[in-house]
Amino acid sequence: MLTTIIYRSHLHDSVPIKTLEDMVAKANNKNQSSDVTGILLFDGRHFFQLLEGPRKTVQSIYDRICVDARHHNLVELMHDFAPTRRFGNLGMELFDLREHDKATVLQAVLDKGTSRYQLTYDDRALQFLRTFVIARDKENYFEIPAANTWEFIADEPASTLQDDIMASLQDCHFAFQPIIDPFARRVASYEALIRTPNGGSPSEYFSAFGGEAIYHADIQSKKLAFQLASALGIGDHSLSINLLPMSLVTVPNAVEFLLAEIEANGLVPEQVIVEVTENEIISKADEFAAEVSKLKAAGISLALDDFGAGFAGLSLLSKFQPDKIKIDREIISNVHKSGPKQAILHAIIKCCSSLEIAVIAEGVEQAEEWMWLEAAGVSQFQGYLFARPQLNGLPAIAWPEIK
Ligand code: C2E
Ligand code: MN
Ligand code: MN
Repeated sequence: MLTTIIYRSHLHDSVPIKTLEDMVAKANNKNQSSDVTGILLFDGRHFFQLLEGPRKTVQSIYDRICVDARHHNLVELMHDFAPTRRFGNLGMELFDLREHDKATVLQAVLDKGTSRYQLTYDDRALQFLRTFVIARDKENYFEIPAANTWEFIADEPASTLQDDIMASLQDCHFAFQPIIDPFARRVASYEALIRTPNGGSPSEYFSAFGGEAIYHADIQSKKLAFQLASALGIGDHSLSINLLPMSLVTVPNAVEFLLAEIEANGLVPEQVIVEVTENEIISKADEFAAEVSKLKAAGISLALDDFGAGFAGLSLLSKFQPDKIKIDREIISNVHKSGPKQAILHAIIKCCSSLEIAVIAEGVEQAEEWMWLEAAGVSQFQGYLFARPQLNGLPAIAWPEIK
């Protein structure tokens, strides 16, 4: 199958521009023997390459480019399939945009085309090419430093429970994971994640219950979450708890119960954030909205969890006006390498900024993901890069520092 991959990248500072011709000639030999064609543009700093050819070989050439140290901030813009090649000439010509005057440059690039697309823009691949040539989206290029610019240094030892409190835990436990603002060196909140007594996952914990018992267990468990948070010395920090939307709807007086337990453990509603997952909200939206208004009226904040993973997405922002959204790990992972993910995140961030909704990125595992997101305007993060959840304790946090 004829596959097209388009990427852009940044020539690494250590590569002398003079050596480019040679580098391209070598790459060309490989491309020719594997029937991969296309076009390579260079503007003095960035590359833009369109690769066309059989699926496997295009992918393997692209995989090699991804690990080539001469490319930096490499972003895949398009990965698609097509009936014919746009640039079918043998090999891959290097086209230096600096050698042409602005008025004719785009036509000069298109003249290298070999298909009927030559003079039309009615094609996504050629639209990308045009955007690159006229440098329309340069403000969206976040040229982040290499991951090894930073080291992550763990802070104070974790806070864990005294043995007598540990012994009193029976039915369920909680693991705590911080949400942090790394540059401000501030913990924004600790999220309480439910565990079985053996440290098993939330789904394992809830699988012991059937029918409506799940919702009662969900609400009841929060008594322990507040107790633990208080015993662990959460102090003025915020505490995020997870609830199924149906728990609030099904369990009689759920909000009253939560408020009473917050108070009984010396916490205040203003420091508590309730996280709900977007794709569970939809079924009884009106009843859920009524419970949310009670939470809000008492001072508790609302966060939409796993934002972008479900199908309700943007419409929920107008229905519930949450205080925060947590962007699902699926969109966060490898964002620094993916044009589509970057475009989605730009849109989410812009939308939330207009609505004054705080944005949290979850599941951040790589320094590059964190740096890209900081550059895009996100300042709160949760993920293994900074801290893993700790069972019945507040974990140490690995704060980033420039080496
Ligand atoms: P969630 O609220 O989105 O919580 C984040 C999950 O991602 C947690 O999994 C956490 O351990 C994991 N995680 C955090 N950082 C990373 C990372 O960098 N990489 C990866 N791969 N994973 C990361 P966990 O604890 O298994 O929780 C799964 C889900 O269970 C939670 O997702 C939440 O929706 C639900 N849950 C947890 N506690 C409760 C609860 O008390 N009540 C209800 N109803 N649901 C809960
Ligand atoms: Mn959550
Ligand atoms: Mn989540």
